[in-house]
Amino acid sequence: MAGNETTTKTRPIDIIWLDPLPNHDHRIVLFKGKTIGFSPLDSDEIRLTSCYKCKKENYALAVMDGVCAWCGWSVEELDQ
Ligand SMILES: [Zn+2]
Repeated sequence: MAGNETTTKTRPIDIIWLDPLPNHDHRIVLFKGKTIGFSPLDSDEIRLTSCYKCKKENYALAVMDGVCAWCGWSVEELDQ
């Protein structure tokens, strides 16, 4: 998806990608002012580290899927 300006996804303006910190390879992602995870620099996919719905820190193996291991909330719901 890198470099592709056309996307079929419409995301709410409540999602904010912070500028990457020096020497970091990812951008912190905020939703409605809360940190929910991060994105690799070459992608807008969101890795869910902190669930927006149940507020728990996500289980590490579920982070890459963007799905909360505790309540099942998915970052894909942000696209709807
Ligand atoms: Zn959750």
